[in-house]
Amino acid sequence: MRAGAETWEEMRKFVFEKAEMGLPFRVSVYAADEAAAQAGAAAAFARIAELNAVMSDYDSDSELSRLARTTGRAVPVSPALWTVLTHAHLFAERSDGAFDITVGPLVSLWRRARRKQELPDAALLAEMRGRVGFKKLRLDAEHRTAELLAPDMRLDLGAIAKGFACDEALAVLKKRGLPRALVGGGGDMAVGDAPPDQPGWRIEVAPLDVPDAPPPQTVLLKNCGLATSGDIFQRVEISGQRYSHIVDPRTGIGLTDHSLVTIIAPDGMTADALSTTVSVLGPERGLKLIEETPGTAAHLVRQPGAKLEFRESARWRDVPKVGAAP
Ligand code: ADP
Ligand code: MG
Repeated sequence: MRAGAETWEEMRKFVFEKAEMGLPFRVSVYAADEAAAQAGAAAAFARIAELNAVMSDYDSDSELSRLARTTGRAVPVSPALWTVLTHAHLFAERSDGAFDITVGPLVSLWRRARRKQELPDAALLAEMRGRVGFKKLRLDAEHRTAELLAPDMRLDLGAIAKGFACDEALAVLKKRGLPRALVGGGGDMAVGDAPPDQPGWRIEVAPLDVPDAPPPQTVLLKNCGLATSGDIFQRVEISGQRYSHIVDPRTGIGLTDHSLVTIIAPDGMTADALSTTVSVLGPERGLKLIEETPGTAAHLVRQPGAKLEFRESARWRDVPKVGAAP
């Protein structure tokens, strides 16, 4: 620590919010002076903006979009994109393609279906499924290149990039001597060292805005990632059936399982990807994957019928919680 380093009493918490990647991001940081906190948060937000310029699938100029236009050619990839692509590949392999960043064409088709409140046309669905599949994205570790093997592919990092952005923003804060920080955006967050004199950051898990919901658990986290994803809140109804914005790559259709999956993992990117993966896999296969993945824990809320169901992985019980015996 620096000479004359802050004692805990001198530190204060500062919270900053900024829209990045199309959603509000939040930086909470403990610092001795406001100027340091402000400069740190500005640098953290700048890093998120930088990553958006790499990974956005809306921005036709992003590195990701440019990569999507290079079918049949091995293209060098920037370090950040390489990290995300290789991890995405790992999650795709481990989930048998339930998690799949090549799902872009199906996601677009599904977005249109949701808007029109009409299931996609079968022929179109079959065509799009032909453009999807994680094995159609070849990654060469030696040369750090990516190659799209099928025409008209579209990569979608919507289920992994936000968690990675939180990790990177947190790393920026740490490098600036601000390790007691939390970065969150949407349902994703990365947490650093604990707040002064506390065992961890207090995070409410999956608070449900429904009448029969039990009070939410509050977990105490440090140096890890947390992500929540699912369709209890984001869904559309077509002919009496409710569908999620998460697409099952095997069918090309939104999930109908109605779940809310919260994952705690060593970092934000892993939590983000696994929350989507477990949503697609469902409770049995999903929890099995979590048990097999070191350092991860899962909390699931499902609503298959009228009643809510709760499931937890084994490691979830060991996560420190407010009000629980230590
Ligand atoms: P949220 O968008 O609420 O943070 P997720 O982290 O689960 O939720 O990400 C969902 C997004 O990921 C979708 O909007 C879509 O862009 C993309 N996606 C949908 N289905 C899949 C899938 N099976 N595998 C990977 N990405 C997906
Ligand atoms: Mg996710």
